[in-house]
Amino acid sequence: MLASLKSDVAFLADDKLEGRQTGTEGEKAAAAYLVQRFQELDLEPKGTDGYIQMFNFKPKTNPHEDVKFTEVSSDSTIVGRNVLGFIDNKSDQTIVIGAHYDHLGYGGEDSLFRGDEKAIHNGADDNASGVALMLNLASKLRATNVNNNYLFIAFSGEEMGLLGSNYFVKNATIDVAKMNYMINMDMVGRLKDSALAIYGTGTSPIFKQTLKSHNNDFKLVMKESGVGPSDHTSFYLADLPVLHFFTGQHNDYHKPSDDTETLNYEGMESISTYIFNIISDLNDNGKLAFRKTKNESEENPRFKVGLGVIPDYMYDGKGMRVDGVSEGKPAIAAGIKKGDIVIELGGNKVTDMMSYMKALSAFKKGDKTTVILTRSGKEVKAEIQF
Ligand SMILES: [Zn+2]
Repeated sequence: MLASLKSDVAFLADDKLEGRQTGTEGEKAAAAYLVQRFQELDLEPKGTDGYIQMFNFKPKTNPHEDVKFTEVSSDSTIVGRNVLGFIDNKSDQTIVIGAHYDHLGYGGEDSLFRGDEKAIHNGADDNASGVALMLNLASKLRATNVNNNYLFIAFSGEEMGLLGSNYFVKNATIDVAKMNYMINMDMVGRLKDSALAIYGTGTSPIFKQTLKSHNNDFKLVMKESGVGPSDHTSFYLADLPVLHFFTGQHNDYHKPSDDTETLNYEGMESISTYIFNIISDLNDNGKLAFRKTKNESEENPRFKVGLGVIPDYMYDGKGMRVDGVSEGKPAIAAGIKKGDIVIELGGNKVTDMMSYMKALSAFKKGDKTTVILTRSGKEVKAEIQF
């Protein structure tokens, strides 16, 4: 099993795929590989063209616009490809298990790399790791667990704004009412100090106890919200319970150095076993109850500015802990360093990621304000200009 996790990551994160950017030859080659893997695993095709579901869209011309899907492709549209495989156990419920396989290609505006030459962003952790884990789960569930059907989806367009999952939910190839819940994996390759984050734990009343009862090895960081920075959000917004697994931020995030040799494959295997046990346990429970998590309307604030930091999503204390700073951005100019914890921004208390994002959404380019942070236990004030 470890061997196939490694070979799947190795194929997807190879330079030959040129970073798997949506709409490129590299993305197509990755999709063709996933079709072949789904065939080997004896999954039924569940796309609109065999295993593939294509979607056309016009890319954003400015960051405040939403992407528009279009019926037909033209010179100004990009074609993305979701890849879908199905295990039909003749149940009336289907569990959706997904991971995005697209990444940043040669970088572009979402890259945090500040080198001079453009470089391939292989995205081994983001998100060859999640796709390899999904294939691993498919092979485990293939042999057992017949109480539900399973739909496996490798999404494209995630990095451009959760496009593949959004399109799928609006153009589902199975009845949405018959989906039971959704499991998403995005960046699961860097298990460190056993810390595993799970988002969406508040989206069904049964989740927390189930997650706890099967946990032997992990330090779990649970977040209730069904809204977050990956594809599970699209399913939550369609009123489905969701769980999203994540092993945390790191300095290679969205950089060419997010590569195969940095992954913890034993960690991936243990996460796979953990998720498999959770699915097996939940299989006796029929359709899971859905619950909305709080403050949804506020959870997706629109940003006009950014500090230029990488937040530490695994940090569970008060405030927003900085895991890295980007060159040439406001935070570095204000002297903010890795390890600092932002506790106040422009007079608003920052207690967690949500309040940080809310505070940030009030500013526009050129605004000046004060940030209060703690560094090695001491409070530090910094002036910042966006
Ligand atoms: Zn990702």
